[in-house]
Amino acid sequence: MNLSHAAHVGCLSARCNCRTGSLYWQPCFFWSIALESRPLFKSDIENIVALIVQKYGGTSVGSPERIKNVARRVAKFKAKGHQVVVVVSAMSGETNRLIALAKEIQTHPDPRELDVIVSTGEQVTIGLLAMALKDAGLKAKSYTGAQVKILTDSAFTKARIVSIDEQNIRADLANDCVVVVAGFQGVDADGNITTLGRGGSDTTGVAVAAALRADECQIYTDVDGVYTTDPRMVPEARRLKTITFEEMLEMASLGSKVLQIRSVEFAGKYKVKLRVLSSFEEEGEGTLITFEDNDKMEQAIISGIAFNRDEAKITVMGVPDKPGIAYQILGPVSDANIDVDIIIQNVGVDGTTDFSFTVHRNEFAKAMDILKNKVQPHIGARDVIGDSKAAKVSVVGVGMRSHVGIASKMFRTLAEEGINIQMISTSEIKISVVIDEKYLELAVRVLHKAFGLDQEDA
Ligand code: ASP
Ligand code: MG
Repeated sequence: MNLSHAAHVGCLSARCNCRTGSLYWQPCFFWSIALESRPLFKSDIENIVALIVQKYGGTSVGSPERIKNVARRVAKFKAKGHQVVVVVSAMSGETNRLIALAKEIQTHPDPRELDVIVSTGEQVTIGLLAMALKDAGLKAKSYTGAQVKILTDSAFTKARIVSIDEQNIRADLANDCVVVVAGFQGVDADGNITTLGRGGSDTTGVAVAAALRADECQIYTDVDGVYTTDPRMVPEARRLKTITFEEMLEMASLGSKVLQIRSVEFAGKYKVKLRVLSSFEEEGEGTLITFEDNDKMEQAIISGIAFNRDEAKITVMGVPDKPGIAYQILGPVSDANIDVDIIIQNVGVDGTTDFSFTVHRNEFAKAMDILKNKVQPHIGARDVIGDSKAAKVSVVGVGMRSHVGIASKMFRTLAEEGINIQMISTSEIKISVVIDEKYLELAVRVLHKAFGLDQEDA
Protein backbone atom coordinates (compact mmCIF):
# COMPACT_ATOMS: atom_id res chain seq x y z
CA MET A 1 0.00 0.00 0.00
CA ASN A 2 1.37 3.36 -0.93
CA LEU A 3 1.27 5.82 1.91
CA SER A 4 3.18 8.72 0.48
CA HIS A 5 2.19 12.26 1.37
CA ALA A 6 0.10 10.96 4.20
CA ALA A 7 1.77 13.24 6.61
CA HIS A 8 0.82 16.39 4.79
CA VAL A 9 -2.91 16.28 5.30
CA GLY A 10 -5.00 18.76 7.11
CA CYS A 11 -2.62 20.23 9.59
CA LEU A 12 -4.71 22.99 11.08
CA SER A 13 -2.17 24.82 13.11
CA ALA A 14 0.69 26.98 12.03
CA ARG A 15 2.97 24.97 14.23
CA CYS A 16 2.84 21.25 13.75
CA ASN A 17 5.47 19.87 16.03
CA CYS A 18 4.40 18.54 19.36
CA ARG A 19 5.71 20.75 22.06
CA THR A 20 6.65 19.54 25.43
CA GLY A 21 4.25 20.34 28.20
CA SER A 22 1.94 17.66 29.37
CA LEU A 23 -1.63 18.40 28.64
CA TYR A 24 -4.96 16.69 28.89
CA TRP A 25 -3.71 13.40 30.06
CA GLN A 26 -4.57 11.71 33.25
CA PRO A 27 -1.68 10.33 35.26
CA CYS A 28 -1.89 6.57 35.36
CA PHE A 29 -4.46 4.83 37.49
CA PHE A 30 -3.50 1.45 38.77
CA TRP A 31 -6.84 0.11 39.82
CA SER A 32 -7.72 -3.30 38.68
CA ILE A 33 -11.18 -4.64 38.16
CA ALA A 34 -11.87 -8.34 38.18
CA LEU A 35 -12.55 -9.40 34.65
CA GLU A 36 -15.87 -11.09 34.27
CA SER A 37 -17.08 -12.58 31.06
CA ARG A 38 -17.93 -9.17 29.69
CA PRO A 39 -16.89 -7.68 26.38
CA LEU A 40 -13.44 -6.14 26.48
CA PHE A 41 -15.14 -2.86 25.83
CA LYS A 42 -18.23 -1.69 24.08
CA SER A 43 -17.13 -1.39 20.55
CA ASP A 44 -18.39 -2.66 17.28
CA ILE A 45 -15.47 -5.06 17.08
CA GLU A 46 -16.87 -7.11 19.92
CA ASN A 47 -19.28 -8.98 17.69
CA ILE A 48 -17.07 -9.57 14.70
CA VAL A 49 -13.82 -11.32 14.05
CA ALA A 50 -11.65 -8.31 13.64
CA LEU A 51 -8.15 -7.44 12.60
CA ILE A 52 -6.76 -5.31 15.41
CA VAL A 53 -3.49 -3.42 15.56
CA GLN A 54 -2.39 -2.73 19.12
CA LYS A 55 0.42 -0.34 19.88
CA TYR A 56 2.08 -0.42 23.31
CA GLY A 57 4.20 2.51 24.47
CA GLY A 58 7.41 2.44 26.48
CA THR A 59 5.89 2.33 29.97
CA SER A 60 3.53 -0.48 28.92
CA VAL A 61 6.56 -2.64 28.03
CA GLY A 62 8.86 -1.11 30.66
CA SER A 63 9.73 -4.37 32.45
CA PRO A 64 9.59 -8.13 31.82
CA GLU A 65 6.49 -8.26 34.06
CA ARG A 66 4.74 -5.62 31.97
CA ILE A 67 5.71 -7.37 28.76
CA LYS A 68 4.09 -10.52 30.13
CA ASN A 69 1.01 -8.45 30.90
CA VAL A 70 0.89 -7.26 27.31
CA ALA A 71 1.10 -10.91 26.21
CA ARG A 72 -1.85 -11.73 28.48
CA ARG A 73 -3.90 -8.90 27.00
CA VAL A 74 -3.09 -9.99 23.47
CA ALA A 75 -4.07 -13.54 24.40
CA LYS A 76 -7.52 -12.30 25.49
CA PHE A 77 -8.11 -10.75 22.10
CA LYS A 78 -6.85 -13.86 20.38
CA ALA A 79 -9.20 -15.98 22.49
CA LYS A 80 -12.09 -14.00 21.05
CA GLY A 81 -10.99 -14.99 17.58
CA HIS A 82 -9.44 -11.70 16.53
CA GLN A 83 -6.30 -11.34 14.45
CA VAL A 84 -3.75 -9.20 16.25
CA VAL A 85 -0.73 -7.24 15.11
CA VAL A 86 1.25 -5.65 17.92
CA VAL A 87 3.49 -2.63 17.44
CA VAL A 88 5.82 -1.81 20.32
CA SER A 89 8.05 1.00 21.51
CA ALA A 90 11.37 0.58 23.22
CA MET A 91 11.21 -0.14 26.96
CA SER A 92 10.74 3.16 28.80
CA GLY A 93 13.92 5.19 29.09
CA GLU A 94 15.74 3.05 26.56
CA THR A 95 15.68 5.47 23.62
CA ASN A 96 16.96 8.27 25.87
CA ARG A 97 19.70 5.98 27.14
CA LEU A 98 20.79 5.09 23.60
CA ILE A 99 20.82 8.74 22.49
CA ALA A 100 22.91 9.67 25.54
CA LEU A 101 25.31 6.85 24.75
CA ALA A 102 25.71 8.05 21.19
CA LYS A 103 26.42 11.57 22.46
CA GLU A 104 29.24 10.27 24.60
CA ILE A 105 31.00 9.37 21.36
CA GLN A 106 29.88 12.28 19.19
CA THR A 107 28.37 15.49 20.56
CA HIS A 108 26.30 15.75 17.39
CA PRO A 109 25.79 12.11 16.47
CA ASP A 110 25.97 11.15 12.82
CA PRO A 111 22.28 10.78 11.88
CA ARG A 112 22.63 7.53 9.94
CA GLU A 113 24.54 5.86 12.75
CA LEU A 114 22.25 7.32 15.39
CA ASP A 115 19.32 5.56 13.71
CA VAL A 116 21.28 2.31 13.70
CA ILE A 117 21.74 2.73 17.44
CA VAL A 118 18.31 3.93 18.59
CA SER A 119 16.41 1.40 16.48
CA THR A 120 17.84 -1.35 18.67
CA GLY A 121 15.54 -0.33 21.54
CA GLU A 122 12.46 -1.52 19.67
CA GLN A 123 14.28 -4.57 18.36
CA VAL A 124 14.80 -5.78 21.92
CA THR A 125 11.12 -5.31 22.78
CA ILE A 126 9.77 -7.24 19.78
CA GLY A 127 11.95 -10.23 20.64
CA LEU A 128 10.94 -10.17 24.30
CA LEU A 129 7.25 -9.82 23.51
CA ALA A 130 7.32 -12.58 20.90
CA MET A 131 8.88 -14.86 23.52
CA ALA A 132 6.25 -13.90 26.11
CA LEU A 133 3.48 -14.60 23.59
CA LYS A 134 4.94 -18.01 22.80
CA ASP A 135 5.13 -18.73 26.53
CA ALA A 136 1.46 -17.82 26.74
CA GLY A 137 0.77 -20.55 24.21
CA LEU A 138 0.33 -18.39 21.13
CA LYS A 139 2.05 -18.48 17.78
CA ALA A 140 4.07 -15.30 17.44
CA LYS A 141 6.71 -13.79 15.19
CA SER A 142 8.69 -10.57 15.50
CA TYR A 143 9.66 -8.22 12.67
CA THR A 144 11.94 -5.21 12.55
CA GLY A 145 10.79 -2.36 10.33
CA ALA A 146 13.17 -3.48 7.60
CA GLN A 147 11.95 -7.09 7.81
CA VAL A 148 8.32 -6.05 7.30
CA LYS A 149 9.53 -3.67 4.83
CA ILE A 150 8.35 -0.36 6.11
CA LEU A 151 9.86 1.72 3.38
CA THR A 152 10.71 5.31 4.32
CA ASP A 153 12.50 8.26 2.78
CA SER A 154 16.12 8.80 3.81
CA ALA A 155 15.61 11.64 6.29
CA PHE A 156 17.47 9.98 9.17
CA THR A 157 15.98 10.60 12.64
CA LYS A 158 12.75 11.99 11.15
CA ALA A 159 11.96 9.76 8.19
CA ARG A 160 8.50 9.54 6.64
CA ILE A 161 6.84 6.28 5.72
CA VAL A 162 6.41 5.80 1.98
CA SER A 163 4.91 2.32 1.82
CA ILE A 164 4.39 -0.83 3.85
CA ASP A 165 4.65 -4.30 2.41
CA GLU A 166 1.91 -6.17 4.24
CA GLN A 167 2.34 -9.55 2.50
CA ASN A 168 4.34 -11.29 5.23
CA ILE A 169 2.10 -9.94 7.96
CA ARG A 170 -1.00 -11.17 6.16
CA ALA A 171 0.47 -14.61 5.62
CA ASP A 172 1.36 -14.91 9.31
CA LEU A 173 -2.06 -13.71 10.40
CA ALA A 174 -3.71 -16.25 8.15
CA ASN A 175 -1.54 -18.80 9.92
CA ASP A 176 -3.02 -17.77 13.29
CA CYS A 177 0.17 -16.01 14.30
CA VAL A 178 0.43 -12.81 16.36
CA VAL A 179 2.70 -10.47 14.44
CA VAL A 180 4.95 -8.21 16.53
CA VAL A 181 6.35 -5.21 14.68
CA ALA A 182 9.04 -2.81 15.90
CA GLY A 183 7.69 0.73 16.06
CA PHE A 184 9.59 3.90 15.19
CA GLN A 185 11.78 2.37 12.47
CA GLY A 186 11.92 1.63 8.79
CA VAL A 187 14.32 1.17 5.95
CA ASP A 188 15.08 3.46 3.03
CA ALA A 189 15.39 2.49 -0.64
CA ASP A 190 19.14 1.89 -0.17
CA GLY A 191 18.64 -0.45 2.78
CA ASN A 192 19.64 2.04 5.47
CA ILE A 193 17.87 1.81 8.82
CA THR A 194 15.80 4.93 9.51
CA THR A 195 13.70 6.17 12.44
CA LEU A 196 10.54 8.25 12.40
CA GLY A 197 11.20 10.87 15.08
CA ARG A 198 10.48 10.76 18.80
CA GLY A 199 7.14 9.18 19.55
CA GLY A 200 7.23 7.56 16.11
CA SER A 201 5.87 4.20 17.22
CA ASP A 202 2.39 5.72 17.23
CA THR A 203 2.85 6.47 13.57
CA THR A 204 4.06 2.94 12.86
CA GLY A 205 0.96 1.61 14.61
CA VAL A 206 -1.45 3.73 12.63
CA ALA A 207 0.40 3.22 9.34
CA VAL A 208 0.38 -0.56 9.78
CA ALA A 209 -3.33 -0.38 10.61
CA ALA A 210 -3.90 1.69 7.47
CA ALA A 211 -1.92 -0.69 5.28
CA LEU A 212 -3.81 -3.71 6.62
CA ARG A 213 -7.14 -1.87 6.67
CA ALA A 214 -7.47 -2.97 10.27
CA ASP A 215 -10.82 -2.75 12.00
CA GLU A 216 -9.30 -0.82 14.88
CA CYS A 217 -5.97 0.60 15.95
CA GLN A 218 -5.64 0.62 19.72
CA ILE A 219 -2.96 2.80 21.25
CA TYR A 220 -2.19 1.51 24.75
CA THR A 221 -0.46 4.00 26.96
CA ASP A 222 -0.14 5.03 30.60
CA VAL A 223 -3.19 7.28 30.51
CA ASP A 224 -6.71 6.04 30.03
CA GLY A 225 -7.77 8.39 27.27
CA VAL A 226 -8.06 11.96 26.12
CA TYR A 227 -9.36 14.45 28.68
CA THR A 228 -11.35 17.68 28.40
CA THR A 229 -8.31 19.37 29.90
CA ASP A 230 -5.39 18.46 32.17
CA PRO A 231 -6.97 16.84 35.24
CA ARG A 232 -4.03 17.93 37.34
CA MET A 233 -5.10 21.50 36.75
CA VAL A 234 -8.86 20.96 36.70
CA PRO A 235 -9.94 18.02 38.84
CA GLU A 236 -13.38 18.08 37.18
CA ALA A 237 -11.84 17.25 33.80
CA ARG A 238 -13.50 14.25 32.20
CA ARG A 239 -12.26 11.58 29.87
CA LEU A 240 -13.83 12.02 26.47
CA LYS A 241 -15.55 8.97 25.08
CA THR A 242 -14.97 10.28 21.58
CA ILE A 243 -13.09 13.10 19.96
CA THR A 244 -13.01 13.88 16.26
CA PHE A 245 -9.79 13.40 14.43
CA GLU A 246 -9.62 17.10 13.60
CA GLU A 247 -9.98 18.03 17.25
CA MET A 248 -7.30 15.51 18.11
CA LEU A 249 -5.06 17.04 15.49
CA GLU A 250 -5.57 20.46 17.06
CA MET A 251 -4.95 19.08 20.52
CA ALA A 252 -1.76 17.38 19.34
CA SER A 253 -0.46 20.50 17.64
CA LEU A 254 -1.45 22.62 20.64
CA GLY A 255 0.94 20.73 22.83
CA SER A 256 -0.44 17.37 23.85
CA LYS A 257 1.97 14.49 23.96
CA VAL A 258 -0.39 11.54 23.97
CA LEU A 259 -0.04 10.84 20.24
CA GLN A 260 2.62 11.78 17.76
CA ILE A 261 0.88 14.29 15.50
CA ARG A 262 1.87 12.38 12.38
CA SER A 263 -0.04 9.37 13.59
CA VAL A 264 -3.19 11.49 13.87
CA GLU A 265 -2.64 12.81 10.36
CA PHE A 266 -2.30 9.25 9.10
CA ALA A 267 -5.46 8.21 10.89
CA GLY A 268 -7.29 11.10 9.26
CA LYS A 269 -6.04 10.43 5.80
CA TYR A 270 -6.75 6.69 5.87
CA LYS A 271 -9.77 6.84 8.16
CA VAL A 272 -8.16 4.49 10.63
CA LYS A 273 -10.37 3.83 13.62
CA LEU A 274 -8.12 4.90 16.45
CA ARG A 275 -8.62 4.39 20.16
CA VAL A 276 -6.43 5.57 23.03
CA LEU A 277 -6.55 3.41 26.14
CA SER A 278 -4.63 2.50 29.25
CA SER A 279 -2.54 -0.65 29.35
CA PHE A 280 -2.75 -0.60 33.14
CA GLU A 281 -6.47 -1.18 33.36
CA GLU A 282 -8.20 -4.42 32.64
CA GLU A 283 -11.20 -2.64 31.21
CA GLY A 284 -12.07 0.77 29.91
CA GLU A 285 -13.16 2.08 26.56
CA GLY A 286 -10.56 4.81 26.41
CA THR A 287 -11.19 7.56 23.89
CA LEU A 288 -12.26 6.78 20.35
CA ILE A 289 -11.10 9.15 17.65
CA THR A 290 -13.96 9.51 15.22
CA PHE A 291 -14.74 11.05 11.90
CA GLU A 292 -17.52 13.59 11.92
CA ASP A 293 -19.02 12.51 8.63
CA ASN A 294 -19.58 8.93 9.69
CA ASP A 295 -20.44 9.71 13.25
CA LYS A 296 -24.12 10.21 13.82
CA MET A 297 -23.68 11.14 17.45
CA GLU A 298 -24.52 14.63 18.57
CA GLN A 299 -21.13 16.19 19.17
CA ALA A 300 -20.42 18.51 22.05
CA ILE A 301 -19.86 22.04 20.82
CA ILE A 302 -16.56 22.28 22.64
CA SER A 303 -14.53 19.16 23.35
CA GLY A 304 -11.61 20.48 25.29
CA ILE A 305 -9.48 23.30 26.62
CA ALA A 306 -5.87 23.07 25.53
CA PHE A 307 -3.14 25.23 26.91
CA ASN A 308 0.53 25.90 26.64
CA ARG A 309 2.60 27.65 29.23
CA ASP A 310 5.81 28.08 27.36
CA GLU A 311 4.91 30.88 25.00
CA ALA A 312 6.75 34.10 24.34
CA LYS A 313 5.45 36.97 22.25
CA ILE A 314 7.34 39.40 20.14
CA THR A 315 6.18 42.60 18.44
CA VAL A 316 8.06 44.41 15.71
CA MET A 317 6.76 47.98 15.89
CA GLY A 318 6.56 50.67 13.27
CA VAL A 319 7.18 48.38 10.34
CA PRO A 320 6.93 49.98 6.88
CA ASP A 321 3.61 48.79 5.40
CA LYS A 322 4.77 47.42 2.06
CA PRO A 323 5.02 44.12 0.17
CA GLY A 324 7.61 41.63 1.42
CA ILE A 325 7.74 42.83 5.00
CA ALA A 326 6.25 39.73 6.62
CA TYR A 327 8.76 37.64 4.72
CA GLN A 328 11.66 39.88 5.72
CA ILE A 329 10.67 39.54 9.38
CA LEU A 330 9.89 35.83 9.50
CA GLY A 331 12.38 34.58 6.89
CA PRO A 332 15.43 34.97 9.16
CA VAL A 333 13.45 33.53 12.10
CA SER A 334 12.55 30.44 10.14
CA ASP A 335 16.09 30.14 8.73
CA ALA A 336 17.21 29.85 12.35
CA ASN A 337 14.79 26.91 12.70
CA ILE A 338 12.55 28.74 15.14
CA ASP A 339 8.90 27.71 15.04
CA VAL A 340 6.47 30.57 14.86
CA ASP A 341 2.92 30.12 16.06
CA ILE A 342 0.30 32.86 16.23
CA ILE A 343 1.02 35.65 13.75
CA ILE A 344 -0.83 38.95 13.76
CA GLN A 345 -0.35 41.98 11.58
CA ASN A 346 -2.35 45.11 12.18
CA VAL A 347 -3.84 47.32 9.46
CA GLY A 348 -1.39 49.96 8.37
CA VAL A 349 -1.80 53.54 9.58
CA ASP A 350 0.33 56.35 8.10
CA GLY A 351 2.41 53.85 6.14
CA THR A 352 3.50 51.73 9.09
CA THR A 353 2.10 48.81 11.00
CA ASP A 354 2.89 46.49 13.94
CA PHE A 355 3.71 42.83 13.45
CA SER A 356 3.40 40.35 16.33
CA PHE A 357 3.96 36.64 16.72
CA THR A 358 4.68 33.99 19.32
CA VAL A 359 7.54 31.53 19.66
CA HIS A 360 8.45 28.87 22.20
CA ARG A 361 9.91 30.43 25.31
CA ASN A 362 13.18 28.51 24.87
CA GLU A 363 13.73 30.28 21.59
CA PHE A 364 12.74 33.74 22.75
CA ALA A 365 16.27 35.05 23.32
CA LYS A 366 17.48 33.73 19.99
CA ALA A 367 14.51 35.21 18.14
CA MET A 368 14.89 38.61 19.86
CA ASP A 369 18.55 38.68 18.93
CA ILE A 370 17.82 38.02 15.26
CA LEU A 371 15.06 40.63 15.15
CA LYS A 372 16.96 43.37 16.96
CA ASN A 373 20.29 42.86 15.25
CA LYS A 374 19.40 41.64 11.78
CA VAL A 375 15.80 42.46 10.96
CA GLN A 376 15.19 45.82 12.62
CA PRO A 377 18.12 47.67 11.03
CA HIS A 378 17.42 46.03 7.69
CA ILE A 379 13.74 46.92 7.37
CA GLY A 380 13.85 50.12 9.38
CA ALA A 381 11.35 49.12 12.08
CA ARG A 382 10.89 51.50 15.02
CA ASP A 383 11.34 48.96 17.83
CA VAL A 384 11.22 45.28 18.80
CA ILE A 385 9.58 44.42 22.09
CA GLY A 386 8.90 41.06 23.68
CA ASP A 387 7.47 39.24 26.65
CA SER A 388 8.60 35.74 27.56
CA LYS A 389 5.89 35.16 30.17
CA ALA A 390 2.94 34.48 27.94
CA ALA A 391 0.64 31.47 27.82
CA LYS A 392 -1.83 30.25 25.25
CA VAL A 393 -5.27 28.92 26.03
CA SER A 394 -7.44 27.37 23.33
CA VAL A 395 -10.99 26.09 23.18
CA VAL A 396 -11.30 23.30 20.64
CA GLY A 397 -14.45 21.87 19.15
CA VAL A 398 -15.91 20.99 15.77
CA GLY A 399 -19.27 22.29 17.02
CA MET A 400 -17.92 25.79 16.47
CA ARG A 401 -18.62 25.38 12.80
CA SER A 402 -22.34 25.31 13.38
CA HIS A 403 -22.73 27.39 16.51
CA VAL A 404 -22.30 31.12 16.90
CA GLY A 405 -21.21 32.93 20.02
CA ILE A 406 -18.34 30.67 21.09
CA ALA A 407 -15.75 33.42 20.77
CA SER A 408 -17.87 35.97 22.60
CA LYS A 409 -18.57 33.50 25.39
CA MET A 410 -14.87 32.81 25.71
CA PHE A 411 -13.98 36.51 25.76
CA ARG A 412 -16.77 37.36 28.24
CA THR A 413 -15.66 34.58 30.58
CA LEU A 414 -12.09 35.88 30.58
CA ALA A 415 -13.25 39.50 30.95
CA GLU A 416 -15.33 38.62 34.01
CA GLU A 417 -12.15 37.44 35.67
CA GLY A 418 -10.25 40.54 34.62
CA ILE A 419 -7.94 38.55 32.34
CA ASN A 420 -6.52 40.62 29.53
CA ILE A 421 -6.32 39.02 26.09
CA GLN A 422 -3.09 39.92 24.33
CA MET A 423 -3.53 38.06 21.06
CA ILE A 424 -6.30 36.09 19.40
CA SER A 425 -6.06 33.47 16.71
CA THR A 426 -8.77 31.26 15.28
CA SER A 427 -9.26 28.34 12.96
CA GLU A 428 -12.51 26.70 11.95
CA ILE A 429 -12.56 24.59 15.09
CA LYS A 430 -10.47 26.42 17.68
CA ILE A 431 -10.03 29.81 19.28
CA SER A 432 -6.70 30.53 20.93
CA VAL A 433 -5.83 33.49 23.10
CA VAL A 434 -2.49 34.58 24.44
CA ILE A 435 -2.61 35.85 28.01
CA ASP A 436 -0.25 36.65 30.85
CA GLU A 437 1.12 33.36 32.15
CA LYS A 438 0.10 34.12 35.71
CA TYR A 439 -3.60 33.85 34.79
CA LEU A 440 -3.27 30.56 32.95
CA GLU A 441 -4.75 28.26 35.60
CA LEU A 442 -7.61 30.60 36.32
CA ALA A 443 -8.39 30.94 32.61
CA VAL A 444 -8.42 27.19 32.04
CA ARG A 445 -10.64 26.57 35.05
CA VAL A 446 -13.25 29.23 34.26
CA LEU A 447 -13.41 28.26 30.59
CA HIS A 448 -13.75 24.59 31.44
CA LYS A 449 -16.75 25.46 33.59
CA ALA A 450 -18.25 28.07 31.27
CA PHE A 451 -18.40 25.57 28.42
CA GLY A 452 -19.94 22.92 30.64
CA LEU A 453 -17.07 20.50 30.24
CA ASP A 454 -17.36 19.38 33.84
CA GLN A 455 -20.84 18.09 33.08
CA GLU A 456 -21.37 14.46 32.17
CA ASP A 457 -22.39 14.34 28.52
CA ALA A 458 -25.84 13.13 27.61
N1 ASP B 1 11.15 4.77 21.33
C1 ASP B 1 10.90 5.95 20.55
C2 ASP B 1 10.88 7.17 21.46
O1 ASP B 1 11.10 7.04 22.65
C3 ASP B 1 9.64 5.86 19.76
C4 ASP B 1 8.38 5.72 20.58
O2 ASP B 1 8.42 5.31 21.73
O3 ASP B 1 7.31 6.03 20.06
O4 ASP B 1 10.70 8.26 20.99
MG1 MG C 1 4.55 7.95 22.86
